[in-house]
Amino acid sequence: MRKAFVVGHPIAHSRSPLIHGYWLASHGLEGRYERIDLPPQNFPAFLRDFPDQGYVGGNVTIPHKEAALAGIDHASDRARRLGAVNTLWLEDGKLYGDNTDITGFLANLDALCPADWAERAGAAVVLGAGGAARAVVAGLAERGLGCIHVVNRSLDKAASLTALAPDQVRAHPLDNLAALLPEAGLIVNTTSLGMAGQPALKIDLAPCRADAIVSDIVYTPLETPLLAQARARGLLAVDGLGMLLHQAVPGFARWFGVTPEVTQGLRDHVCADLLAGKGKPA
Ligand code: NAP
Repeated sequence: MRKAFVVGHPIAHSRSPLIHGYWLASHGLEGRYERIDLPPQNFPAFLRDFPDQGYVGGNVTIPHKEAALAGIDHASDRARRLGAVNTLWLEDGKLYGDNTDITGFLANLDALCPADWAERAGAAVVLGAGGAARAVVAGLAERGLGCIHVVNRSLDKAASLTALAPDQVRAHPLDNLAALLPEAGLIVNTTSLGMAGQPALKIDLAPCRADAIVSDIVYTPLETPLLAQARARGLLAVDGLGMLLHQAVPGFARWFGVTPEVTQGLRDHVCADLLAGKGKPA
């Protein structure tokens, strides 16, 4: 039986077992997908030994994503660009790693927005400059957005993201936000604001373009105050659950040999868990 894992510390909150378990059952596959809680000091040994424990690969989450990049034989271009690996697999006895957050973010927009969303948007405002923002900014740069404005409380962190695509990415303090909104066809929240237990993101969408798309990668709750405001203004609102579901597709395909789909059934399955409040916000 093929076995995969998600390794992190802590790991109890991870929804990945729910997603991969759903796909294993719906495809009638005999595989297993297991949670592994490992403190950082034990991760290098696990990276070396997991094939001997019968695993074909797995997901890596906080705090091991950078250590995974350092410890593998082959990293994808995207993993190297983001400085982090979230998906591992074996090929010809070598350890490979990718970062599928870019795929997840872009596939979700592709699924829910008009096909030419990137060309129509022209410019984007990305709020936040943490780990998730790196994937969002790199993805938007790949899609050729002319200007990606990164707006963050700590300007130095926003500035560090300009290295991802120096010709396209600009760094700004929060004070610049209102002036940037009228230009942007896409607004993405990657801060943790709006998440359950956190204050709401303070933003007035009034200056936005009428055709602006508003995306929030926070998915606990699914309908954040930002998305509620966007919908109330008649703007296209894209929630964060789709990114989580789509980023899981490439790993499942590698470990279990079937490319799964992100269906309404999967979404309902994970939503039911989120609504039941099982696990901590993640
Ligand atoms: P992170 O690295 O800790 O970054 C957090 C960001 O939020 C930073 O830019 C930080 O600004 C900003 N922030 C936090 N508190 C703030 C406040 N009070 N005022 C202004 N800015 C504040 O976190 P992350 O890993 O990027 O994750 C961010 C969010 O994305 C989380 O809610 C996470 O669950 C979600 N996420 C979703 C997915 C998905 O698949 N949908 C994937 C990854 C992450 P400073 O730089 O100034 O500290």
